[in-house]
Amino acid sequence: MERKNAWTTYDENTMAQVEEAAKRYRAFLDQGKTERECAAQAVEIAESAGYENLEDVIRQGKTVKPGDKLYLSQMKKAVMLFHVGEKPIEQGMNIVGAHIDSPRIDVKQNPFYEDTDVAYADTHYYGGIKKYQWVARALALHGVAAKKDGSVVEIVIGEDENDPVVGISDLLIHLSQEQMVKKASEVITGEGLDIMLAGRPLEGAEKEPVKALLLKILQEKYGLEEEDMLSAEIEAVPAGRSRDYGLDRSMILGYGHDDRVCAYAELEAMLKLPAVPAYTCCCLLADKEEIGSVGATGMQAKYFENAVAELLYLTTGKESDLTLRRALANSRMLSCDVSAGYDPLYASAFEKKNAAFLGRGVCYNKFTGSRGKSGSNDANAEFLGRLRKVMDDHQVNWQTAELGKVDLGGGGTIAYICALYGMEVVDSGVPVLSMHAPQEIISKADLYEAIRAYTVFMTDIGPQKD
Ligand code: MN
Ligand code: MN
Repeated sequence: MERKNAWTTYDENTMAQVEEAAKRYRAFLDQGKTERECAAQAVEIAESAGYENLEDVIRQGKTVKPGDKLYLSQMKKAVMLFHVGEKPIEQGMNIVGAHIDSPRIDVKQNPFYEDTDVAYADTHYYGGIKKYQWVARALALHGVAAKKDGSVVEIVIGEDENDPVVGISDLLIHLSQEQMVKKASEVITGEGLDIMLAGRPLEGAEKEPVKALLLKILQEKYGLEEEDMLSAEIEAVPAGRSRDYGLDRSMILGYGHDDRVCAYAELEAMLKLPAVPAYTCCCLLADKEEIGSVGATGMQAKYFENAVAELLYLTTGKESDLTLRRALANSRMLSCDVSAGYDPLYASAFEKKNAAFLGRGVCYNKFTGSRGKSGSNDANAEFLGRLRKVMDDHQVNWQTAELGKVDLGGGGTIAYICALYGMEVVDSGVPVLSMHAPQEIISKADLYEAIRAYTVFMTDIGPQKD
């Protein structure tokens, strides 16, 4: 049951396509370091491919017909794309869904303080991180500050090579005797993740002169008062661009592969659909997956259901709760999220027969969850059977996987939330090494196979024939 290494199946022409896809993805990744930046790029990609804003279509009282392409943004942090198919939406959609938030360090609402001639920002980390990985490295600040007058200031500091960067200091090894014997989870504490922002006093300032200079810079460069931080979302992320990884350039090292690699593969797949697909195809890019899919932009919010209700009204001219329920229940979905790649350096964490391998293609996780599949969406065998056929018919390189050894831990995705509608859902994604580290690793072959898999899924998968 061993799966082929995808690279062995490529001719020269395919190799070139793999490389081109990797280049396009790296540009997306480098421009999308936050959920907002990814959402903005998704909207841009959609608009340039002829997608119309669903809100405009509603406002203008237009009707929607097969072949029409629509997008909708939820608070600029989640985005949905719909490509309307030939068959009535009531017969179900072919959905690919990923998340565009990634682990990071968020600046608190009252962040600034000065200690011993250094100005800091207090933070609260976001998502599951090994805190010790985030110190002693260059960080960039990305985000927005909403002012009382309704204007929103966008901030990106640390990406241009002429920009300064910021960061969190670590204790020197020479004095680390006590630190080095601590448990890894205690080496750096959450409250210890304070970001150094400035180190020079403002001339003439009496109280907290270093913080005073920091505030002066924020005022002069961005028009921001200290109080504006109360309504700001500033995220500290690893500074710098993604890189080709390995001497053979077969991999990509970068921040946020989880889950922007699947998000990007979905977007490319949407652009490869026929003018009128058989079933309505949908690309979902959700926020807040890393903290439990909560909040108004997380998958648990009803924006997707609401958008489908709007779409049904625009295509049928009728309002019907029953039709909406049928449309959702009759749908098929790939919950596109990264999986743990097998790492020979940590072989004891995996059960090798059921692990995902870098370079062996897109992977399908029948279940995720932890401690006895708890919290998992355990996909239906019949659905997996049809998927195997579609993937094999199109020579997609694919593999199955589970997230490490049974009793070691686990993880979740958005799969179980969409499954609540009664639709068929399975997790599908790209294997990643060093997941949730500031820089993660993927294989270019797996990105390429994910794009192909998501395309053929949306064009070819249909309902179970009883
Ligand atoms: Mn993920
Ligand atoms: Mn994750």
